[in-house]
Amino acid sequence: MLWDDFINSYWRDWRTGDRSKDKDKLQDQKWLAAWLEQHSLRAELPVKPVELEQLQQLRSLLREAVQKLVQGCPPDGDLLEQLNGYMLRGPVIRQVVWNAEGNMAISFQPQRPDWEQVMAEIASSFAAALVEKETSRFRICENPDCLWVYYDDTRNRSKRYCDDKMCGNLMKVRRFRARKKADMEGNF
Ligand SMILES: [Zn+2]
Repeated sequence: MLWDDFINSYWRDWRTGDRSKDKDKLQDQKWLAAWLEQHSLRAELPVKPVELEQLQQLRSLLREAVQKLVQGCPPDGDLLEQLNGYMLRGPVIRQVVWNAEGNMAISFQPQRPDWEQVMAEIASSFAAALVEKETSRFRICENPDCLWVYYDDTRNRSKRYCDDKMCGNLMKVRRFRARKKADMEGNF
């Protein structure tokens, strides 16, 4: 999805927690080009410093919104107002079309090939998730060195890590070591 892909453009070294290895992929023009392509969006590259700053602000807004959802706070009027502000700057034309499955669908065609339009599309993707999905399934990976944002679509809502084989496994090993250490300390 566009919205979580965008929030996760800030990358942390989930294995070591070494913050000097943090990578803001929004500053990587090659990554941006591939990302625009992947989401069928158009905007001028390289991104200008002022636009980069706006993108980072939007990313912070969305991450904070997810943090609140994770804590059980429903979206507030302020968030909706801010999302509407972004969406206002990205006009779309509606068309009824045949989709790939041969069904009729409404298509929304972004009208401007610029970063304001891209931000409008991101805000719209997040707004659609708030409306159509279950806000209690928004997640932040429980590995404190990772903090990857994702949507938990497992049946029993039990997905605690972005990836059980990676962060899940790492945290299991850490818990095991902590327990072992506590046991040993208890013996003395
Ligand atoms: Zn993770």
